[in-house]
Amino acid sequence: MKIKKLYLIIVIAVLFVFLISSCEQKPKDTLYQVSTIDALLDGAYDGEIKFGEVKKHGDFGIGTFDAIDGEMIALDGQFYQIKTDGKAYRVSSATKTPFADVCFFKPEQRIVIKKKLTFDQLKQFIDKLLPTKNIFYAIKIKGNFNYVKARSVPKQKKPYPPLAEVVKDQVVFEFHDKKGTAIGFYSPSYVKGIGVPEYHMHFLQDNRKKGGHILDLTISHAVIEIDYLDKFYLVLPKNASFLNADLAKDRQAELQKVEK
Ligand SMILES: [Zn+2]
Repeated sequence: MKIKKLYLIIVIAVLFVFLISSCEQKPKDTLYQVSTIDALLDGAYDGEIKFGEVKKHGDFGIGTFDAIDGEMIALDGQFYQIKTDGKAYRVSSATKTPFADVCFFKPEQRIVIKKKLTFDQLKQFIDKLLPTKNIFYAIKIKGNFNYVKARSVPKQKKPYPPLAEVVKDQVVFEFHDKKGTAIGFYSPSYVKGIGVPEYHMHFLQDNRKKGGHILDLTISHAVIEIDYLDKFYLVLPKNASFLNADLAKDRQAELQKVEK
C-alpha cells in the first residue's frame, strides 16, 4: 500500500514538472524584431526594449543600441556590443535597443563547405539551400574567414541624423585569416520597410573579442546552419523618436547605401 502511494506521488510530481516546463517553452521558429529598419534609417535611435527582455525571445541575432552605439551580435545566448574601436563588449540586461532581430537558434539544415567563396558566391550558395524565398531564415556560418570587412557606427547625439549620414562616419575593420562566426538573417523581399530584404550578417571572431556588421568577406572552410523561421513577432517602440519618424517614404535606395 505504502509503495503504491509513493508511486502515485512520484507520478504526480513528474507530471507537474512536465507541465511547468512545457509552459516555459521557448518560442520556436519565431523571428522577434524590435522596431522597423525604416525607423532606424530615419534616425529613430532611442532605445526602447531592454536586452533583459530581448533575451527572453532569442539567444541568437543582430541589432544595435540606444543612440546607435555600435553593432549588436548575439551568439549562444551571449550578447555583444561592437563599438567603433572594433572590440566586443558584453551587454548588460539594462541596456536598451532601438532595433534588434533575435530567435532561438535551432537549425533545420547543416552544410559543410570546403571551397573558397566570396560574399556574393556565399549568398548565391545559400540561396540554393533555401526551400522557399518566402519565409525568414536565421543563418549561422562558422569557419575560417580568409577576409572580413566589417564596420561599426559611432554613438549619436540628438537631434539624431539619418542613418545614411551616420554611416559616412562608420569605422571599417579588416580581418585576415580569422576563425569566427557570421550571424544573421535572410528576409523575404516583401519585408521592405520593416526589415532588411535578403541577407543581413554580422561577424564575431572565435575569441569573441572583435567583430562588426559585415560589408564583405571571403570564406574557405565553414559549416553553414540554417534555421527556418515561419513566424514573425514585431514590437513597435512607444517613444517619440519612433512615433514621430517619417515612415511613409520608400527608403530602399537609402538602405542599399547604408548596408554596403
Ligand atoms: Zn548590421
